[in-house]
Amino acid sequence: MTATVDPHLITDLQKFGAADINACFSCGNCTAICPLADSDAMFPRKLIRLAQVGLTDDLVSSKELWTCYGCGVCTTRCPQQADPGEFMGTARRYAIAHYDKSGIARVLYTRPVIGSAIAIGAAAFFALFFAAVRGEQSRDTLALFDFIPYSVIHTTGIVLMVVVALFSLLGVGLLARDIARRDQVTWSALFGSRQAWGRTLRAAWYALGIESLGQKRYREDCHDDEPVEPLYRRRWLIHALTLWGFLGLLLATTLDYGMDLLGIKATGTPVPIWYPVRLLGTVAGLALMYGVTWFMIRRWQETRQGNDTSKPSDWLFLVLLWVAGLTGFVIEAALYAEPVPGWGYWVFLLHVAIAMELVLFLPFTKFAHVMYRPVSLFFYGLVKDAQRTAG
Ligand code: SF4
Ligand code: SF4
Repeated sequence: MTATVDPHLITDLQKFGAADINACFSCGNCTAICPLADSDAMFPRKLIRLAQVGLTDDLVSSKELWTCYGCGVCTTRCPQQADPGEFMGTARRYAIAHYDKSGIARVLYTRPVIGSAIAIGAAAFFALFFAAVRGEQSRDTLALFDFIPYSVIHTTGIVLMVVVALFSLLGVGLLARDIARRDQVTWSALFGSRQAWGRTLRAAWYALGIESLGQKRYREDCHDDEPVEPLYRRRWLIHALTLWGFLGLLLATTLDYGMDLLGIKATGTPVPIWYPVRLLGTVAGLALMYGVTWFMIRRWQETRQGNDTSKPSDWLFLVLLWVAGLTGFVIEAALYAEPVPGWGYWVFLLHVAIAMELVLFLPFTKFAHVMYRPVSLFFYGLVKDAQRTAG
């Protein structure tokens, strides 16, 4: 593969938030202090070097980008104030925009006014759409799916998911292709023999089970906030609770849908709070709200201290998650309130509109890291596995 040099790469990266990485003189302090860098993932210094020489393709397809969890320790050790921690976050934003071929991610990241208008416009569109198709408000019970017909929500969700899946699969497929080319991972190395299958499955388990779900390296290696921060405020726990909460809600929604299909319980049937699927949704929602709230508090504090260069698009993802979680709990309270509160219907409408927007923006915001990180970790796991087997 011939490397193309882009002389404007640093200028372009600065639109996504990078500090003055030209100041970096490759001393290597940042890589030495990074708890997650190793001989197979030499970051952030190596990636800063790629940016300095304009190797865009090598930068965006570096699996090291997604091995970093953004703790910021490297920044504290940089003698040049090049802010390597922020550079890593910026390069991830840049990679998301690079692999989004619609150009929406780039607009959201680099044109805050237009990006905000798109976000507000999308929310307004969904709200108006559901308001236009709304039905009757029953006063005997909070019949949410009579107000917004379940079939309309279901069909809108499916259409959105198909669109989002196309953009997501394209982005993930291109990233996987680029990493595989650079690391010379062939189809036969992945699936050509029983041993290859074994390696592939172990790498998939490492990426999805051990690292994504179990947060192993984040939990065990990123100790910079100990003992300063109590357990309940540590970054890995906040991140893990957000992820587990989100997955729990996804599972509860899928189970609810499955029970409807199997004729066990029609969606929307009133159930007590301890009903297993409802309980799962409540606990998962609490975990999600806890994690997202702390993320927002920390970001807000860092912004006030001048240490945060988050883009509006990063906030958009957090705000949408938070509003979706909060409105979910308000609806839950309304379901058990007496007499039936009329406002419950409108909160439900807002909740559905925000949930649709969240799905729609998956490939274009920070949300996309849920796809790109596991793919990169998969290839990282493959390298590690090959080393273990060879050793
Ligand atoms: S932000 Fe943390 S994990 Fe990322 S490169 Fe810097 S020290 Fe390493
Ligand atoms: S510590 Fe700073 S100057 Fe040294 S390699 Fe890292 S970013 Fe460059």
